[in-house]
Amino acid sequence: MSDERDSQFYVDLEDLYGAANYNPLDVVLTRGKGIWLWDVEGNKYLDFLSGYSAVNQGHCHPRIQKVLSEQAKRLTLTSRAFRNDQWAMLTKEICSFTGYQMVLPMNSGAEAVETAIKAARMWGYQEKGIPENQAEIIVCENNFHGRTTTIISFSSEPHYRQDFGPFTPGFVIVPFGDLAALEAAITPNTTAFIVEPIQAEAGVLFPPPGFLKKAKALCEMNEVLFIADEIQTGLGRTGKMFSCEYEGLVPDIMVIGKSLGGGFYPISAVLSRREILGLFTAGSHGSTFSANPLGSAVAREAIRVLQEEGLVENAAELGEYFLKKLSSLKIRNIRTVRGRGLLLGVELTPEAGGARRYCEALAQEGLLCKETHENVIRFVPPLVIKKRDLDWAFKRIKKVFKELE
Ligand SMILES: *Cc1c(COP(=O)(O)O)cnc(C)c1O
Repeated sequence: MSDERDSQFYVDLEDLYGAANYNPLDVVLTRGKGIWLWDVEGNKYLDFLSGYSAVNQGHCHPRIQKVLSEQAKRLTLTSRAFRNDQWAMLTKEICSFTGYQMVLPMNSGAEAVETAIKAARMWGYQEKGIPENQAEIIVCENNFHGRTTTIISFSSEPHYRQDFGPFTPGFVIVPFGDLAALEAAITPNTTAFIVEPIQAEAGVLFPPPGFLKKAKALCEMNEVLFIADEIQTGLGRTGKMFSCEYEGLVPDIMVIGKSLGGGFYPISAVLSRREILGLFTAGSHGSTFSANPLGSAVAREAIRVLQEEGLVENAAELGEYFLKKLSSLKIRNIRTVRGRGLLLGVELTPEAGGARRYCEALAQEGLLCKETHENVIRFVPPLVIKKRDLDWAFKRIKKVFKELE
């Protein structure tokens, strides 16, 4: 399959023709299986990023692969001008496993967040009685909800916004985890509060314990919809199927994506009650590829794999194990280690010289990680990982951290 060139050949090609909107490590991957990846030279790596949690089920999972190739021979795209059997089955299955009444499918995470914003605004006008074009949505500082122009309009990260204005109005930013600030920001025109249960992109940041539950109660009291972006934290990553379960809370709207496609196919979804998603009428929203039979069949199997292979339980158990191991490291350059389930982050001190050089050194040892912002390295393996693989990884992490002291 490979054209049998060396890594440098592909790096040069990509750098010449591809827009440089990412800063990848110069590892050119060509094959994957489970937790493992291989580059074009045949070097083997443990994947400690999992496609930003889009590959919770592991690379090229055989069950999902089989469903994908069989569905690819049968039917792949109808558009929603017509119905298809796979999407119809997925609606019921996704609602019964999440407990929601209705689902609206999209393709990428950002599109699903956009859809949740539309749904919340529509609910605000039609149900809450907010005057036309006055709806406000409260968001958190350091949020990451995607890259569309509306979503970056409420980002607090200058680099995500620079030269992309003018921006969409109607958003208010409050500090993450600050209940008083949230309360102060709510006005009669507030229609929703959108939050990541754990801010993964910002560096695996947690709100104070109990914040989400109290925020939900505050929203309820003020007739404000609570929207949880579980695109990265959901589907088992943090040791529960959804991270909000840690506080026993059911968001009014939940957004999922990433591992819903098992690493094979982009598919995302917005979940909510009938009184909210039921407000969409024919023609009010859509996407050509949404609910297509290929993606729907893949998502059905991706969900089954998560459930039937006990991946959520594995994330809980091994996450706790690995967090303990990482916390035992006596390294001056480590400021803190934090995480839940298999969403783990090591924060380096400012003197450590940046997380990037750590990621480069870890890649040399066969571990693929990615820095987030300056000083945080995320350890986010596929949820099919085993204890012995984590032990293998730990040895290498320890070696690299000692060498770079
Ligand atoms: C990845 C991510 C998104 C955006 O998803 P895309 O599929 O990249 O558009 C939104 N929210 C969170 C929390 C994410 O991690």
